[in-house]
Amino acid sequence: MAKIDTILQDLIIANRILAKEEVVDAYGHVSIRHPDNPKHFFLARSLAPDLVERDDIVEHGLDGQPVRDETRALYLERFIHAAIYEARPDVQAVVHAHAEDVLPFGIAQATPLRPVIHSGSFIGAHVPVWDIADKFGDTDLLVRNIDHGRDLARSLAGNNVALMRGHGFASAGRSLIEVVRISVYLPRNARALQRATQLGGEIKSLSKGEIAARAAGYSPYSSETWRAWQYWATKAGCAQLLTRPDEKHEHKH
Ligand SMILES: [Zn+2]
Repeated sequence: MAKIDTILQDLIIANRILAKEEVVDAYGHVSIRHPDNPKHFFLARSLAPDLVERDDIVEHGLDGQPVRDETRALYLERFIHAAIYEARPDVQAVVHAHAEDVLPFGIAQATPLRPVIHSGSFIGAHVPVWDIADKFGDTDLLVRNIDHGRDLARSLAGNNVALMRGHGFASAGRSLIEVVRISVYLPRNARALQRATQLGGEIKSLSKGEIAARAAGYSPYSSETWRAWQYWATKAGCAQLLTRPDEKHEHKH
């Protein structure tokens, strides 16, 4: 299978996983950077992620526009992806979603969202909160153009996740598997933190050293990482789309 075919198939799997894990619903999206052209990325047309098929995936440029003639409606918020790829050459995949458990941490200022469970370590030590109103005043809160996107990307800076006040989050990863993993565990980490806060007393987050130790043991195609990807894909009913990691390594040569 050609490399692009594998990548697009992985993107379909990512869409289905995020839907099944309730990170996205009718809204929210996931993209991957073009492996041979860093100025392009792949993102579905305007469609609920669970319904995305190969023909729905559209190649976009860093201005957020499709690179070929496209008559179908596109995601309004595709500029989130474009601006993050533009600002962060290290980022290979991006997710935007409105997962409910994350929202309180973009609204309340008393408790910052920090990693508190081992699987939440990948959100990183610092999770900035981006408020569209700071620069753009009263809007409908959607990232509707590249200026909005760039302002969000500035707030994200070198972090893995930015919360979007009253709206959702954007996450960025070095691989598709990584960004899916961040996005699945982000709401779970948020739930654990919120419940712990309700229990009261001091909240103990993961230390910088613990976060670093978790990151040091990570590789996108390790058997541990693959185990989760395979599990999620099977649960989401798309195990038949999986390509084994050793097949991926062959494609790199
Ligand atoms: Zn949104």
